Amino acid sequence: MRISELARQTADALAETLWPTRCVGCDQPGELLCEECRAGLPWIEQHLACPSCGAPYGFLTCTECDGSWLPRATVAALGFHGAPARMVTCLKDAHELRLAPVIAAAMACSLEEASAWPARDGAPRFSAAGIDALCFVPATAAAYARRGFDHMELVARALSRELAVPLADVLVRPSARDQRQLGRAERSANLSGTMRALDDLQGANLLLIDDVSTTGASLAEGARALAERGAASVTACVLARVW
Ligand SMILES: [Zn+2]
Ligand SMILES: [Zn+2]
Repeated sequence: MRISELARQTADALAETLWPTRCVGCDQPGELLCEECRAGLPWIEQHLACPSCGAPYGFLTCTECDGSWLPRATVAALGFHGAPARMVTCLKDAHELRLAPVIAAAMACSLEEASAWPARDGAPRFSAAGIDALCFVPATAAAYARRGFDHMELVARALSRELAVPLADVLVRPSARDQRQLGRAERSANLSGTMRALDDLQGANLLLIDDVSTTGASLAEGARALAERGAASVTACVLARVW
């Protein structure tokens, strides 16, 4: 064993003694997400969800999107309450970086389920073989400066490994303001034109991911920026959908 590896393991063991791992769902010591909380996750049933925007129960008629929704399909894994909401907060704000692969695994699970159901274009909502690269909605410059890392980049790295799809860190948004206090129309106006793709994406079929979708404004803006640089299709996936 290399000395650096031994030092890392010793440091990990010490940290575990001082700050034992606790479940994000119920705060019990032991695992990041205990078995009980894992079993109780509010999964969105993909066959009932809107194939376009991913809204739960929107399969036949969706009240949340219309013909102008840009991603060809959207997969939302979980409802945004309980453990999923805390998973996002603990990763972003409590710097519990070990949650990134847990979040990626939940997204991979729903993408797998969604691959059995058609998008509005008749093709499967997701197929890893049909995706050229994985992109993520980047943190705003202000959020990056505050946290010192981009939590979705960590999730994207983990999901890229999980799906064996290359990562394309191409989106930037230098000037978007915080969305949290804004309503639906304001969110979309606030974001409009704030994301840019850095590379030429001519003909690429992309998977775009984000943590939470409220009105879908960030996904729509990301998809717009990718399409502007020539992306042939954008399939979207979020960990949690506000519902
Ligand atoms: Zn728990
Ligand atoms: Zn919809």
